[in-house]
Amino acid sequence: MRIETLGASHEIANNWTVVGGPCAAESKEQVLESAKSISKSRAQVLRAGIWKPRTSPNSWQGVGVEALEWMQEAKHQTGIAITTEVNSVDTVESTLRAEFDILWIGSRNSTYFPLLTEVGILTSDKQIPVILKRGMGSELDEWLGAADYIRKHNPNVILCERGIKGFNQCTRNTLDLQTAKLAQIESGLPVIVDISHAAGRRDLIVPMALAVKAAGFNGLMVEVHPEPDKARTDSKQQISLEDFRALMQKLEKIPFNL
Ligand code: PEP
Ligand code: MN
Repeated sequence: MRIETLGASHEIANNWTVVGGPCAAESKEQVLESAKSISKSRAQVLRAGIWKPRTSPNSWQGVGVEALEWMQEAKHQTGIAITTEVNSVDTVESTLRAEFDILWIGSRNSTYFPLLTEVGILTSDKQIPVILKRGMGSELDEWLGAADYIRKHNPNVILCERGIKGFNQCTRNTLDLQTAKLAQIESGLPVIVDISHAAGRRDLIVPMALAVKAAGFNGLMVEVHPEPDKARTDSKQQISLEDFRALMQKLEKIPFNL
């Protein structure tokens, strides 16, 4: 499946879609190497954060606008669709100018209604799909209500479960596939699952990915980095390009819509 078939969220609903790529765009070489390998592994969408939401303002905040061109070049060189997290009108406008195929709203901003409305309005023209991550403390109705703010203007919303805050310290978040399944049933929207931010550790990626596909979700988001241990953000949860290729091969053994 290539860019032209990713024009609407109902197309994602009818296909198994994998969004893979680094937590953050760090250099042009890193983005291009990731794009080439990930598209060879048959992922449909390349992700990379350009403006990173960090707990501390003193932490690295991402490369910023410079990375827009790297992603655009990755798209032109490989044909892979591209996505990044947007957090303001400015970032939405610049990603749309840079031919991004899908935009995404991160967990921290996912109940900021003025942003959701603006994203809906700015993507309504071409009905560019918008991935809405679940707020890390959002209940089902809050997540679906947030989606409605975008859907009022653009129906092409893809929900993304990414784990919720729990008491357990052994994982970064708690993967809540039950609520994600209810979201899929009740909204009729495609639901993909970000297993990387749910787990926060790479040893859970393969089993959770297999569970997500077997449970009839519409796709995955996975963080993949050419040198995971050297990643500037989320290094513990990113997998290598080789491990991603092996994961994609394993996933092929599970039929979509089992
Ligand atoms: C991300 O995908 O890089 C990210 C920051 O995710 P979340 O908004 O789910 O924390
Ligand atoms: Mn990350």
